[in-house]
Amino acid sequence: MTHSPVWHPFTQHGLGEPIPLVTHGEGAALYTQDGRRIVDAISSWWVTTHGHRNPRIMAAIAAQTQKLDQIIFAGWTHEPAEALARGLTAMLPPALTRVFYSDSGSTSVEVALKMALGFWANRGEARHRILVLEHSYHGDTIGAMSVGARGVFNRAYAPLLFDVGTIPFPATGHEQTTLDALEAECRAGAAAFIVEPLLLGAGGMLIYPPETLAAMRAICAAHDVLFIADEVMTGWGRTGTLLACEQAGVVPDILCLSKGLTGGAIPLAVTLATEPIYAAHCSQDRATMFFHSSSYTANPIACAAALANLEIWRDEPVAERIADLSRRQAARLAALDHPAIGGKRQLGTITALDIADPDTGYLSTLGPRLLGFFRERDLLLRPLGNTVYVMPPYCIDDADLDAIYAAIGDACAMLAVRQTD
Ligand SMILES: *Cc1c(COP(=O)(O)O)cnc(C)c1O
Repeated sequence: MTHSPVWHPFTQHGLGEPIPLVTHGEGAALYTQDGRRIVDAISSWWVTTHGHRNPRIMAAIAAQTQKLDQIIFAGWTHEPAEALARGLTAMLPPALTRVFYSDSGSTSVEVALKMALGFWANRGEARHRILVLEHSYHGDTIGAMSVGARGVFNRAYAPLLFDVGTIPFPATGHEQTTLDALEAECRAGAAAFIVEPLLLGAGGMLIYPPETLAAMRAICAAHDVLFIADEVMTGWGRTGTLLACEQAGVVPDILCLSKGLTGGAIPLAVTLATEPIYAAHCSQDRATMFFHSSSYTANPIACAAALANLEIWRDEPVAERIADLSRRQAARLAALDHPAIGGKRQLGTITALDIADPDTGYLSTLGPRLLGFFRERDLLLRPLGNTVYVMPPYCIDDADLDAIYAAIGDACAMLAVRQTD
């Protein structure tokens, strides 16, 4: 390959690993320049819900390009943003009355944190401490990193990250420890608690039960600590329901959505807020407005794509597709059998398992070895350290699912051979 000036994310270019060039995609498949068909087993990093190049989303994008490409959103508006906000508020819990647009999951989290701090500042209460769950991931900007787990990913930036109160992850049998820690922190007077509901994604596909989520929400409510649900990954059906919060009967004060918002076609994010949070910013005083924007806020083409996603959810049997995929995933996970496999778990369309490795952690060599193995098998699977997870687009067929699980089984066999070398 000729020299490329591209600097890729989360990529150690010094290792010289191959970087396939993808030319097109359709459904659950990606096609490379060298003629390979790759099964997208992680929905192109958790974004693609209905499949690549969904015809209705592509048509909506094409139609919008004939009308309006971009317009400043401060003091101006357009129909795709208005219609999308109406659609979202109609579809999501009624308490979430206000929709603020941004461009990525990380920015939706920054917006959520700023809304929470603005709420307290405008009400004249000195609350600014943010509470987080251990092993969380909320994005890669400075604020989002601050509320996420600390580690090799952000060691170089640690001096700039703000202090947070970390609540222990509610591991099975230790839920009360989590609730007690949250209670103590809330009692001390925090501004907000940010959580990934039911499933911590980048932290290793760690699952906790709806009762714990409901109990955490109740503790926050009792102490007026704002509850921020980061459903950037869990939203749009991934966990079996439109929102993961639904399974716990929880309605947050602030909700972040991004990845599947446009079906995964084009960047867009929203942060929804309850009326009191909006009201705290709304007055005759310009100093209390919400001071946040980015150039492409509510880009009309992205909003049109998201509107098409909402129409798909409204008109097509998406919930049945998700239930069906969840069942097919469960059957294949159960059938996987190898002594190196432990920690099998599933939530909705997502399955995960851990492969035994004495050398654990994100920089374990197991992850890169697996990545290479799966790439050679024409699979896009990207383990988190020694955790392998499968999170496909909802349209994936049985043959492609079988190929994924066969490769995971073979990878375990390959590692066993390597270990006895
Ligand atoms: C991916 C992710 C983010 C960050 O989203 P980006 O679009 O990558 O900035 C935030 N929160 C969660 C839970 C995520 O999984």
